[in-house]
Amino acid sequence: MTLKEMDQTYVLPTYARNYVHFVRGENSMLYDADGNDYVDFGSGIAVCSVGHGNPRLADAICDQAKKLIHTSNLYLIEPQARLAKRLAELSGYDVQTFFANSGAEANEGAIKIARRYGEVEGEVKRYKIITLEHSFHGRTITALKATGQEAMHTYFGPFPDGFVYARDIDHVYDLIDDHTVAVMIELVQGEGGVQPMEKEAVRRLSEALKKQDILLIVDEVQTGIYRTGEVLASNLYEITPDIVTLAKGLGGGVPIGAIMTTHKGILKAGDHGSTFGGNFLSTRAALEVLDILEGHKESGELDHMMLLFEERLKSIAAAHPELFEKEVGVGFMRGLRVKEGRDASEIINAAFKERVVVLKAGKNTVRFLPVLTITKEEMDLGFERFETALASL
Ligand SMILES: *Cc1c(COP(=O)(O)O)cnc(C)c1O
Repeated sequence: MTLKEMDQTYVLPTYARNYVHFVRGENSMLYDADGNDYVDFGSGIAVCSVGHGNPRLADAICDQAKKLIHTSNLYLIEPQARLAKRLAELSGYDVQTFFANSGAEANEGAIKIARRYGEVEGEVKRYKIITLEHSFHGRTITALKATGQEAMHTYFGPFPDGFVYARDIDHVYDLIDDHTVAVMIELVQGEGGVQPMEKEAVRRLSEALKKQDILLIVDEVQTGIYRTGEVLASNLYEITPDIVTLAKGLGGGVPIGAIMTTHKGILKAGDHGSTFGGNFLSTRAALEVLDILEGHKESGELDHMMLLFEERLKSIAAAHPELFEKEVGVGFMRGLRVKEGRDASEIINAAFKERVVVLKAGKNTVRFLPVLTITKEEMDLGFERFETALASL
């Protein structure tokens, strides 16, 4: 039985898999079992923030695994306390953090905090949460319902009540009523097609919500941890959300989610919990990731490479008006919007043949989420291959 047959026989077929067999990686490079090298412009969907095979992260994980991996949240967990402190310091927000294991789970917790807030603050019980069309908040039943894409609500019902969808930020105001307790948004929609929100509109919304005692939840599962150039996209947008959720890039590939909130007194002992969340292994990994990325940001290297990456994408978009409408995105969360009548998948497949990994977002966007520690050489090689792929179309 081949590995592919094994996968198809024993693994539930929930993914439309490409059966390339990657066996190791080095920063932006991936290597398959036949020794072919690929430039990874996807970083495991914004997860491998410090690159593949990062020796500092590997050493931290290895060292921690030899000491303690898990004891449960019944006892003090040193790296968890240190990570919560680091997240507060790096973000600049006066927050406490709860640790989960994924983005969907972090969003579930954020929704619970908001619902609890709606129960204890104000005269009437408030429970309604407004999210945006084309958003993506995860795959659990509640996170699916929070996701503003009707196609996601076809099966698996009945769903929890209390979610309404705004067409855009300006439409949020029309949906607010006495039962509204929170608004949940991504500052740059990722899965929805690499769509940054307008800064002024976000700032206006943030202020308006504060006046009405409605919580602003920012889903930073994809935008968080330097993906947009700042620790959080909320820092870039210069807002102070009530709740921020994190996951993807935080552990560099080790599963971890986080909910940061300024409302420290809302959840009490017993209100929420997780068996694995915040254990020694994942929080130690995240501490190392933050150390690596903080240094990368402070040296100026992160901003420099982001600028170069943006310039390359802009010139590719300009050189191929027959394929692309424009370049979109922020920092290392970027895309090429594909022309009407052309197919993003066709471009992604051609790129893969040239051994450069790019992703799809929304219906018509070729998405680029490079590792945050990408080097100039890796970038040049990746774009050289991408250009070859485009020329083949
Ligand atoms: C990926 C993603 C999620 C879901 O994260 P999982 O870890 O897959 O549960 C939620 N929100 C956003 C914005 C995401 O990009």
